[in-house]
Amino acid sequence: MTANIQSERFCLAIHTSEIHGNGLFAEQDIPADALIYESDEYTVTQVARYGSIQRTPTDHIMQKLLRWENHSCVPNTKLHFDGPNVQLIATKHILVGQEIACDYRQTEDSIPKPFQCNCGRCSGIIVK
Ligand SMILES: [Zn+2]
Repeated sequence: MTANIQSERFCLAIHTSEIHGNGLFAEQDIPADALIYESDEYTVTQVARYGSIQRTPTDHIMQKLLRWENHSCVPNTKLHFDGPNVQLIATKHILVGQEIACDYRQTEDSIPKPFQCNCGRCSGIIVK
């Protein structure tokens, strides 16, 4: 049995985002429902930090690739925990060059630092 399972099934890139700072982008077309990325390599913290993902009511993970995923109120992915693995799953067809984003409210009980969302579909300030 291998201790570390890390499959990078699709080519992804990190570069400048129109949403915020740097973001995660598709380097190839990704079909809806595809498992884009999966990893059990992350650090666990007891408090939410910038870039962390909430795993349970009491712990959060910091993952080297997923920490770059920006928020969207109209996301094209969702995050899922399967045993020790955190998975990034496409919820719609993603075209090459598109930014990969998730709705932070899907995983987070609270967002420590409210931020401005520029999607045009929400109130503009994400607070939870
Ligand atoms: Zn929004």
